[in-house]
Amino acid sequence: MHSKNKAGAFFALLIIFLVAFILYWGSTKPVSVIIQAGHEERTSGNTGATSSLYKETEWNTFVANEVTKQLRSWDIDVKRIPAKVPFLKAKIAVSIHFDSAKRVCHSGASIGYPNKDSYGFARQWEKLYKAYYPFRWHQDNFTENLKHYYAYRKIDAEKFLVLELGEITCDEQTKWLKPRLKKIAHLIAYAIATELGKKVPKPVL
Ligand SMILES: [Zn+2]
Repeated sequence: MHSKNKAGAFFALLIIFLVAFILYWGSTKPVSVIIQAGHEERTSGNTGATSSLYKETEWNTFVANEVTKQLRSWDIDVKRIPAKVPFLKAKIAVSIHFDSAKRVCHSGASIGYPNKDSYGFARQWEKLYKAYYPFRWHQDNFTENLKHYYAYRKIDAEKFLVLELGEITCDEQTKWLKPRLKKIAHLIAYAIATELGKKVPKPVL
């Protein structure tokens, strides 16, 4: 084939793919909620924090599953995803994480989000979790990973929060966190349902 024709064929294909993608994207319906367990199923790259006793991914998975279960029990549709993110649309997306720190016990809870649309939801979560979690809080988006979380580019959500729920490398915190993971998950589910305008019972902590 002539090289000019090749280029032409290539661009024609490109345009077909683009149009197909736009049509596909336009027709996809948003789910109400996406719940991601941070680092889940990742075997290389950023596989999550670890301490001598605990793995962040295991805690993320446990909490993400509990949040999902609770939301579904309230008839809220949830798409539960691992670290690998497909292109998706949602009203609310929440990613679950626990932090680690080089200087042990110098970290704590924090919130990341892509823009001001999620600010009110972040404040709602902060208010709920601050009344419960007795350790340190960081400012919103205090790391580049929170500010520019990779999934913000793939998930088109009206509101997106990345939640750091505590420091897994701090014994004092893990002692408090471990027996409360289920309660924390229920509090997250409550925050999400409330943000969606659903009237659900506040968990007893
Ligand atoms: Zn993490």
